[in-house]
Amino acid sequence: MVFDSTEAAPREELREVQDGRLRETVRNAYENVEFYRETFDEAGLSPADIESVEDLSKLPFTTKEDFRDHYPTGMFAVDMDDVIRVHASSGTTGKPKIVGYTREDLDVWNKAVARCLVAAGVGPDDVVQNAYGYGLFTGGLGLHQGVEELGATVIPIGGGNTQRQVELLSDLGSDVIACTPSYALYLAEVADDMGVDIRDLPLRTVIFGAEPCTEPMRNEIEARLGVTGIDIYGLSEIVGPGVSVECEAQDGLHIWEDYFYPEVVDPNTGDPVEEGEEGELVLTTLAKDALPVLRYRTGDLTTLDYGTCECGRTCVRMDNITGRSDDLIIVRGVNFYPSEVESVVLEFDEIAPHYRIDLRREGNLDRVEITVELVEEFGGSLSDLEGRIQKRLSNVLSFTPDELNLVEYGDIARTEVGKVQRVYDHRGQ
Ligand SMILES: [Zn+2]
Repeated sequence: MVFDSTEAAPREELREVQDGRLRETVRNAYENVEFYRETFDEAGLSPADIESVEDLSKLPFTTKEDFRDHYPTGMFAVDMDDVIRVHASSGTTGKPKIVGYTREDLDVWNKAVARCLVAAGVGPDDVVQNAYGYGLFTGGLGLHQGVEELGATVIPIGGGNTQRQVELLSDLGSDVIACTPSYALYLAEVADDMGVDIRDLPLRTVIFGAEPCTEPMRNEIEARLGVTGIDIYGLSEIVGPGVSVECEAQDGLHIWEDYFYPEVVDPNTGDPVEEGEEGELVLTTLAKDALPVLRYRTGDLTTLDYGTCECGRTCVRMDNITGRSDDLIIVRGVNFYPSEVESVVLEFDEIAPHYRIDLRREGNLDRVEITVELVEEFGGSLSDLEGRIQKRLSNVLSFTPDELNLVEYGDIARTEVGKVQRVYDHRGQ
């Protein structure tokens, strides 16, 4: 089942669509966005030099700093009169990135999300509970309008209200819920407290996004909620949710390549990597008028697989994002990703799937403190457990964290709205 035939089109056909749309996008960017005109001129390029996606590597990258430098709407290619919606990305520092959409852009976005839903096994008869936050964040409205495009039923509950979420799952028999992976687990905990076993409800799919999710975390969600966990990916600068999604084969996320052209580059040199090799995902929009984006560095690390998927879709698959290049933690010359800690946490039955990482500086020395939560029914030896967890962390991280705290069940704050924070860097404070 596909939402539209492009998803499974022969790749030569897809390429023709991409090349035509890229020429149009480049022309629009050059003629209407001063930033791109200057970038092209500095590189000695004209739009005529970009005839096909193979020419893209001639162009410099666009970065999040470029969005910041042209805040609020300097990256827009159309007048505000033609923009019918704006959203903004949540910046942790400084100004957010403002993004805008024409009516045609919204239509593309709706279709991209509808494709994602169908790939996730959602049909027009299904009820989808949307627990993404509504508002400036693209998640809520993005998912919402895709459900409507498909003709399924959307419950626009938004983030938080967790007891109400559980009640609606039960009372309206939601088939699907869309939320962050950490929230899916919190939902299961609250349901437990209410005496509801989500596994007994009609819910069969969780579409999770907005946070990286490791494979052990997905398995935990699937087991706790009795569902299939489907990863959806997107970012506001490109469109919002709907850039790519897993199909039911759960073997990589299909990127809607007629809308978004992907490249993977070495994060240090910017050079393209070989197919299948890990690098930073770079995306170019092919069907957006208000905010055309050329070669955007997403900061997300992944690989691309052009092999045919068992679902029949021909669109390339990217690997689940488990790390961002700017998530990399560097302490005392050692590098690690929070996802590596997560995979260890999920290996132990004695601890709950919640953790936090605190980085502190004492004198000139960086310290790494990891806090994990015991499961409610824990009754074993604390020191034995601590020893085993530390040993495993040392193996995976190649260093031993300075401190491992085992706290009581429920002591690590849960995130009801927005993205979960796992890493707290107190250095430099
Ligand atoms: Zn597939």
